[in-house]
Amino acid sequence: MDSEKLIEEKVKNQRSFFKKQHTKNLDFRIGALKKLKKIIQENEKALYEAIYLDFKKSKFETYATELALLYHDIDEALYEIKSWVKPQKVSTNLLNFPGKSRIYQEPLGTCLIIGAWNYPYQLSLAPCVPAIAAGNTVILKPSEIPSNTSALMAKLINENFDSEFFHVIEGGKEETQELLKQKFDKIFFTGSTTVGKIIYEAAAKNLTPVTLELGGKSPAIFTENCNLDVCVKRMVWAKFINAGQTCIAPDYILCPENMAIKLIEKIKEYIGKFNYSFENDNYVQIINDKNLERLEKLLDPNKIVYGGQIDTSSRFMEPTIMFPVLKTDAVMQEEIFGPILPILTYKNMDEAISLVQEMEKPLSCYVFTNDRKVEQKIISQISFGGGAINDALMHIANSSLPFGGVGQSGIGSYHGKAGFDSFSHNKSVFRKYNWLELKIKYSPYSNSKFKWIKRLFG
Ligand code: NAD
Repeated sequence: MDSEKLIEEKVKNQRSFFKKQHTKNLDFRIGALKKLKKIIQENEKALYEAIYLDFKKSKFETYATELALLYHDIDEALYEIKSWVKPQKVSTNLLNFPGKSRIYQEPLGTCLIIGAWNYPYQLSLAPCVPAIAAGNTVILKPSEIPSNTSALMAKLINENFDSEFFHVIEGGKEETQELLKQKFDKIFFTGSTTVGKIIYEAAAKNLTPVTLELGGKSPAIFTENCNLDVCVKRMVWAKFINAGQTCIAPDYILCPENMAIKLIEKIKEYIGKFNYSFENDNYVQIINDKNLERLEKLLDPNKIVYGGQIDTSSRFMEPTIMFPVLKTDAVMQEEIFGPILPILTYKNMDEAISLVQEMEKPLSCYVFTNDRKVEQKIISQISFGGGAINDALMHIANSSLPFGGVGQSGIGSYHGKAGFDSFSHNKSVFRKYNWLELKIKYSPYSNSKFKWIKRLFG
């Protein structure tokens, strides 16, 4: 069967299975989540091996940045599911007396989840957790770029789940576009803003709701009175983990003019201490030659103050600092998504804020300061998806914080309850009692009815 027919059939089967109502059963959802956790646990070794083959990601980093978050998401969903599915009682207004109002959580139906390559397990499987918890069927299309992780996820899911409920379809652009021709009840996409627009356009044809987890240039703004040592340590970790191939990595630094040299020395010190290398198992490869070439083009040899070494045969790119960078430089024209750290300076905070505001709304923003007024000014004046004060990346590890972008960095959010909500419809139902029936809304109307209705609405 060609892939077009196969895709059509898989979606059709999922739609009929959803209609059978099985996925709405709480025990079914709990069973599926437990099974998913068990499959991941039992295959941890294979998961580590596949991702190492794809881009030399170590066991430690795979656990810390992918599997641990997945386990947490599954455990949280299992713990909270009963409260999430419970119809929510809300107040009823006087006009509707006597009655009761409730919001029911309804699964959307058949969902398509499309993953990105940079954290292949987490970005593909984490959205499946709330989709299943909310009672949907799922077709997952992981990124084709890390081919070993994609093949392993397909094997593990497809061998252990019925394809009419949860199924992985592997492939790239062509297969995704074939999938997009089908009617889904929800599309959850993680990837670039450019492809996000293609997804949104395709979804619009069927009025399919979307969550778009996209990218952007996330600033890290330093002020002079920050705790330099600990702030730089956290920022360097966040920037170079996964060799900078993280959607919420600090993309560039903004610091006061007279702080730049001190800051650069501290960054160098921590890059040295962290000793990034494949031999240490604490650094990863640039995912492919295409991305390595793209990153190389962003380098301006005159502005490299640290690093800049590239080894094409092993796809190694050294952590690299560029200074002084201007907003017109090539490195500031696109999301870097690699281990290059440009440093720009500002004269005052208003100038720094304007520079960020002139660009598209970022996925994240980080502020390193001990000044609460600066912190509040940035939070209130810069629009960004989410972020942290005196830290970077770690907001993603708190599932009580909805994770998502704004503007060009995304639509919607997930993690924790926000994830469950993004795969559910809030079905509002008003239940009217029959023991009282006021005549006021019925014709024939009169002046006294008019006075009463104004009073009731007022
Ligand atoms: P991408 O947009 O190239 O690919 C994402 C997915 O879309 C893949 O599954 C791919 O097969 C598919 N795809 C690619 N081109 C397509 C096309 N023309 N039509 C239909 N489908 C297509 O993104 P990527 O390179 O995998 O990931 C990098 C980007 O993702 C960065 O911009 C990064 O910031 C962003 N990202 C965002 C998050 C987040 O949570 N917000 C997380 C990780 C990555």
